[in-house]
Amino acid sequence: MPAELHGGGRFVLSRKDFVPAYVKAFEEGLLQKRADQAVESLGSCRVCPRDCQIDRFNNKIGVCKSGRQARVASAFPHFGEEDCLRAWNGSGTIFFGWCNLRCVFCQNFATSQLGEGAEVTPAELAGVMLDLQAAGCHNINFVTPEPSSLLCWPVRASPADRADSHTLPEQLP
Ligand code: SF4
Repeated sequence: MPAELHGGGRFVLSRKDFVPAYVKAFEEGLLQKRADQAVESLGSCRVCPRDCQIDRFNNKIGVCKSGRQARVASAFPHFGEEDCLRAWNGSGTIFFGWCNLRCVFCQNFATSQLGEGAEVTPAELAGVMLDLQAAGCHNINFVTPEPSSLLCWPVRASPADRADSHTLPEQLP
């Protein structure tokens, strides 16, 4: 059995040995390459099963209505998440506007379906994440779209600006 599953049924990683995957990729010189690949993939977007094949890089809009830049509706330490995510300083939550799903029951409808928020550059998004880190949040929590449609934004944000300053998520004791 893998060591991570020895926590009495819980998935447990050793705090001492934990290194976030993006930090490891940055240290190994792979993060910028992955960011470049993520940006390139926008040219004919197939990053989610909607398979629109439109040019998001030049702001053509597919099912998710997301263009080249991320759209951020809000960012704050979230205390409404589960205990393991919010802990005592909150989960560093960023709500992105638009979504590639069309759930009529979405509890964040104004954000996911009406596009609440404003566009941010990769450097600005990196700044938002660093502000949440400085506020003591235990992790960065991307909310609203199904993950594959937004993944290029945080991947771009980290190498674009001070990747070596990002350290979250931390392992809680
Ligand atoms: S991420 Fe958006 S544009 Fe790309 S395939 Fe999915 S819905 Fe279409």
